[in-house]
Amino acid sequence: MPIRHNPYAQRYSLWLRGNLHAHTNLSDGELSPDDTLDAFARRGYDFVALTDHDIVASPNGLHPQILFLSGVEHSAQQHILRVNVTSTLPRDLSYQSVIDLTLQEDGLVILNHPNWGENYDHWHHAQLLHLERYHGIEIYNNVIEYLEGSPYALDRWDLLLSEGKRVWGYANEDTHRVFQMGSAWNAVNVHERSREAVLDALKEGRFYASTGVVLEEISVEDGYYRVRATNAREMRLISMHGEVVERSPGHIATFSLHKARGYARVEAFGEGQSRAWTQPVFLE
Ligand SMILES: [Zn+2]
Repeated sequence: MPIRHNPYAQRYSLWLRGNLHAHTNLSDGELSPDDTLDAFARRGYDFVALTDHDIVASPNGLHPQILFLSGVEHSAQQHILRVNVTSTLPRDLSYQSVIDLTLQEDGLVILNHPNWGENYDHWHHAQLLHLERYHGIEIYNNVIEYLEGSPYALDRWDLLLSEGKRVWGYANEDTHRVFQMGSAWNAVNVHERSREAVLDALKEGRFYASTGVVLEEISVEDGYYRVRATNAREMRLISMHGEVVERSPGHIATFSLHKARGYARVEAFGEGQSRAWTQPVFLE
């Protein structure tokens, strides 16, 4: 099965874990910017983005452990996460302009919690389909565990991927309160510990999203998708329209891609609700 695009074509030994969506007491979060970074540092995080509602927060100084990413949650009727930017944008701009202006600043653009709300449609499918050049969507958002709708958006992701959209899936805590810390993260595979390397990996799909399952190795080569986890009980190869092509018990899986169509991604299942999601590889 020839591969059209593989985000894991480059592989490195270093994995860094981070949060991309956190609120401080500058908007509706609990802790100050500095205390937020300290709290994540105590939990072993390597990078943190502060993304308050329509205000750019920053810590007082360089943190000894945390790579800090500036950012903002553009909170118009629908919410857009803008990471690695230092400016806010008017709420009445079109969403496509918000995306494009963020890219001009070298930012990362994620459309937030698509299934928030009583109709599970914070973002409508047509919008996700027609907007262009954003990097991805939140496939998990922890705050929606406590609100209407679903914290998951794997259904929306598979729909987009099946329609040929190349978008990555991010798992975000959307931290407002300390108890949420550790509920979700993204781990990037990088050649060095730097903001630039972290951002490149997040934009290029060289990462996995998690709510508790830790992956040690992801490789796609010679027609096989291999994943090794430390704490998974089962892995599944997912393809077009969310079809489970194959299941593999245990924490190491080697899936042949010959039965996959369009794209292939892996979900790892751990204890309770904990999961990890690798990014899709796109097939001919
Ligand atoms: Zn938020």
